[in-house]
Amino acid sequence: MLTSIEKLTKFLLLEIDRQFDNRSVFGGFENISEGWKQEAIIQNVPGELITEVCGVFSNYYMMEVSDRRKSIKKILISLQNSGNLILPNQSKYVEFTINNQIQGEKNRNSTSGDSTAATSLKQFDLEQALSNPVTKIPGIGNFRAEALSRLGISTIKDLIYHFPRKHEDFSNLTPIGKLNFSDKVSIAATIKSIFTRNIKGGKQKITELILEDDTGNLRVTFFNQPFLERSLKPGLRIMVSGIVEMYAGRYVLTNPEWIELNKGGINLNRLFPYYPLTKNITQKWLRETISKQINLWVPKINDFFSFEFLSKANILDLPTALRNIHFPESLELKKQSEERFSFQDTFFLHLAMLQQKKNWQKESAKIIKFDDNLFEQLSNSLPYQLTNAQKRSIFDIQNDMASGVPMSRLIQGDVGSGKTIVAAMSIAATIKNGYQSVVMAPTGILAEQLYTSIRSFLLTNKIISAGEISYLSGTTSEKEKILIKEGLKSGLIKVAVGTHALIEDPVEFKNLEFVVIDEQHRFGVMQRKKIRVKGPSSHLLVMTATPIPRTLALTIFGDLDLTVIDEIPPGRKEIKTNVINPQKRSDAYKFIHKIVDEGSQVFIVYPLIESEDGETNESNAAVNAFNHLKKEVFPGLSIGLLHGRLKPDEKEKVMLNFRNGFYQILVTTTVVEVGVDVSNATMMMIEGANRFGLSQLHQLRGRVGRGIKQSYCFLVPENEDAVENERLKAMIGTSDGFKLAEIDLSQRGPGDFIGIRQSGYKEIRFSNIMNVKLIEKARALAKEVINDDPNFINEESHLYKIIMSDYLQKMIGEKT
Ligand code: ADP
Ligand code: MG
Repeated sequence: MLTSIEKLTKFLLLEIDRQFDNRSVFGGFENISEGWKQEAIIQNVPGELITEVCGVFSNYYMMEVSDRRKSIKKILISLQNSGNLILPNQSKYVEFTINNQIQGEKNRNSTSGDSTAATSLKQFDLEQALSNPVTKIPGIGNFRAEALSRLGISTIKDLIYHFPRKHEDFSNLTPIGKLNFSDKVSIAATIKSIFTRNIKGGKQKITELILEDDTGNLRVTFFNQPFLERSLKPGLRIMVSGIVEMYAGRYVLTNPEWIELNKGGINLNRLFPYYPLTKNITQKWLRETISKQINLWVPKINDFFSFEFLSKANILDLPTALRNIHFPESLELKKQSEERFSFQDTFFLHLAMLQQKKNWQKESAKIIKFDDNLFEQLSNSLPYQLTNAQKRSIFDIQNDMASGVPMSRLIQGDVGSGKTIVAAMSIAATIKNGYQSVVMAPTGILAEQLYTSIRSFLLTNKIISAGEISYLSGTTSEKEKILIKEGLKSGLIKVAVGTHALIEDPVEFKNLEFVVIDEQHRFGVMQRKKIRVKGPSSHLLVMTATPIPRTLALTIFGDLDLTVIDEIPPGRKEIKTNVINPQKRSDAYKFIHKIVDEGSQVFIVYPLIESEDGETNESNAAVNAFNHLKKEVFPGLSIGLLHGRLKPDEKEKVMLNFRNGFYQILVTTTVVEVGVDVSNATMMMIEGANRFGLSQLHQLRGRVGRGIKQSYCFLVPENEDAVENERLKAMIGTSDGFKLAEIDLSQRGPGDFIGIRQSGYKEIRFSNIMNVKLIEKARALAKEVINDDPNFINEESHLYKIIMSDYLQKMIGEKT
């Protein structure tokens, strides 16, 4: 329990942080005045102090900000003078507590005055200063500012947070006389000569430098950088770093990294940063500019994590991390700095997710009970046995829906793992409890597919009658829409299946208590939020076939509880997968002919819609290939063309034509990847297969193998070398989506994950996403913060709230 004095101090400091908006306590200071007074009297707080505080509290809401500021300062000084001030050790409050007289003397006595001025800079003033445009920096005018803006840098803070793409280690210098072939070396030497000449008939330029130190000469060549002649003059001392090559029997360095050694001497034990650049910004200029700003601002920056927090998280403090991410004192510190920023990103993302979850859980929800007999009856009606994983999912849902708190659950199960029936059974329970359900899918075709199977399941089991389920999409006629809307409002319709037009249109429900979203990877955090705003108290079930490794799932879907269906129904035929040499494409075409003759259908997938350079390219662009295949390869067959540039209703039409068997072959791009079910399609050929991530290939492959016939998948890389590609071979070896996702993640990083790209995280530095420990640590600490202080009232967590909001804006373009 805090004493009344401790509480007072806390409120006042918070109020300072909040810029005196009278919102550091619920209802404003006027509201707590009386309560605080009672407590203070009991605790023997001096009467004068109580009078002063209550006087301020009861009038605070009427005061101007400047007066609020003065009053708070006065109370703090009174507290200090009466020996009652227990301050957190934070310099930002200094100016509020040192009394005027002492402060005045200090100013007079100090000669330079800069150090106290620097440390007493309030957090707010600091943020203000850092948010100044870069043009405030001496030497940066509009010309440079414009160039910097292309790098996403507009403020001083942006500049400080423009992190290097790499560091070069110049710490171990090798004398020229001691070089060895293929060593990676750094050399400090003087430029003896520099000369640029044309090669390849003037198409390219080569700049040659001769460097000299006490032990010998070395040739250094740069290709196509003739402008170097402007900065690299004979007589200048530089350091170069690169790999020793051999040319015409002599050692050379080609396109090495280099820096100038100033006359003042430079600390040689250094890792030098190399930044992403743009036109009119040179490495040297940017490095020096950033270095100056770091030296100027970092000593003034306070960490928003407390000392205790830093040691609990075992991460570097912000000033040290900022300095070392640019100019590391050692490789170890560089690594720790990167970790600090990864931690920070992850922590705030999780904090946001957990807060969202907490907000949802504040609502109470209708209790929906699953009847054991009903469950038994429904299970018995199926032509198969539910897998254990399916049963477990239903069990999880059952618990959630009976809890009285809105469910927020993600079911993650590979293509074909049988998610639909899990949703359908939960819908049946909802109807039996007297409530409505909604099911949404990202496209009309998917929605229709769901509609058909859910409808037939519910009708067979006499859960509903034919008029009690409806399908609603963008193409539903106006007249029908009106009828459906009336039915939903009156409660006549118990289940609506459709596209997300269902939540975007103003549709009213009698008692919607269960919302299902299928193929979630097309929806992001914001969509989930939107749905929650529409129905804050309904139970939400989200389903996805994107096999995202658990750590990543925790980050992207951290606001949801997770159930994984890790079991595919038994008896599925494996899809025979092969990597095809592009030279042998005609064999594959022959095979396709055979498949089509047997009455099956074929997908041919291309990485691009249309060849970008206008050159005909039949092997990587759908439109070009379509024309070629139609004329030259399969002249007698009916071929459809599907890609992302078609309008939604055109896409639907092509897809329907294919599903209804009108086309024998569908030439397409990855738009086809989401759960479409065409059981007669038994063959998929994927061109440019080396361009796709494994997860994506797996998703694509899941379009076939949906019927009883043997299915095939041919992967055709762009060139022969890629035939031996290990990644593609993994596709032959396994049909486990999670395994493939792990391989993908470890080899290509998270950028390729459909889940991430499509859920719209723009800026997060996912460099450490593989660091499971870091993610778990960040999540655990975020959980602690949310549990200890759910409303972000404490000084520290209040600051988190502000930062979190900034983060969300950067990452998903929206403030919380
Ligand atoms: P997805 O998880 O990709 O949405 P579906 O729900 O569409 O998968 O199920 C794919 C197919 O598997 C459907 O034809 C469905 O009837 C069937 N299925 C579902 N569960 C089982 C099971 N336990 N045993 C056999 N077949 C099943
Ligand atoms: Mg599905």
